[in-house]
Amino acid sequence: MKCNYCENTVVYSRKYSGENLCLDCFSKSIIRKTAKTISKYRMIRSGDMVGVAVSGGKDSLSLLHILKQISLNHNFTLRAITIDEGIPGYRDEALDLVRSFCSKIGVEHGVYSYKHLFGTTLKQSLEIRENEKISSCSICGILRRRAIDFGAKELGVDTVATGHNLDDFIQTFIINLLSGDTNKIGWMDPEPTNKTARRIKPFCEIYENEIAFYAFTNNIPFQSEECPHMSEGIRTEIRNFLNSLEKSHAGIKNNMYQSILKISSKLKEETGKKWKICSKCGTECTGDTCSVCNTLLSLGLGQP
Ligand SMILES: [Zn+2]
Ligand SMILES: [Zn+2]
Repeated sequence: MKCNYCENTVVYSRKYSGENLCLDCFSKSIIRKTAKTISKYRMIRSGDMVGVAVSGGKDSLSLLHILKQISLNHNFTLRAITIDEGIPGYRDEALDLVRSFCSKIGVEHGVYSYKHLFGTTLKQSLEIRENEKISSCSICGILRRRAIDFGAKELGVDTVATGHNLDDFIQTFIINLLSGDTNKIGWMDPEPTNKTARRIKPFCEIYENEIAFYAFTNNIPFQSEECPHMSEGIRTEIRNFLNSLEKSHAGIKNNMYQSILKISSKLKEETGKKWKICSKCGTECTGDTCSVCNTLLSLGLGQP
């Protein structure tokens, strides 16, 4: 079968649009869609230094690969930020992988460790957690967020880009919905509004399986092994549920994404009025202290 756009052989059939694409046209379509998302939500400003949070997984390495190509004819520069949680074996492998990938594509790379910033590794902080209701992934996520902000400041980064895709976006919405956290739904708008620590997700309109296919077909060496502390629970159930719906109703994830945008922008108007400044770190939040600072306090950890 021939590609819809050229004479090459089809390697990918995009069910939700009916397109049949060759290798080259598939990759170009992902790059184009990422660029379109960036401009639609004004994610990157002219002259920005963009710091890509690179874990070594398929999403973040593909994002770095694509932003590098987009940066060649746009006015922004790139840095890579990697966080070392101090997970022996798992993180060491990813660090080597990210280091060699960054030097291959010519992107300056900074590594920041929990040990250095908080005086503790993930393993140690999991041992001291008192409230068993906090999962290892949420503790780690909170420490990582703060560590990335620290790295961004060190490198002079204006905007932090993460590899979250459309699937992650929908899963997060459902988790917030199920936990009754409508404030968080108001913060889901893809257009960055925070003046401090601007954060963007240029893959928020791209299906996870398409990013995986991009990584495979562009020979991006990524870490496929899962974190040994992984305990995502309900997220995995929601992920499987959405994938099975998509299988019999192609495009259903896109529809849901569009609905979330509308709901989020309505809620944003309400949440926006309640914004305060965290008394510990100065980021925008709805309480007196932000969720990151609250977790650091409950773990007995200081500010980096
Ligand atoms: Zn083609
Ligand atoms: Zn704070």
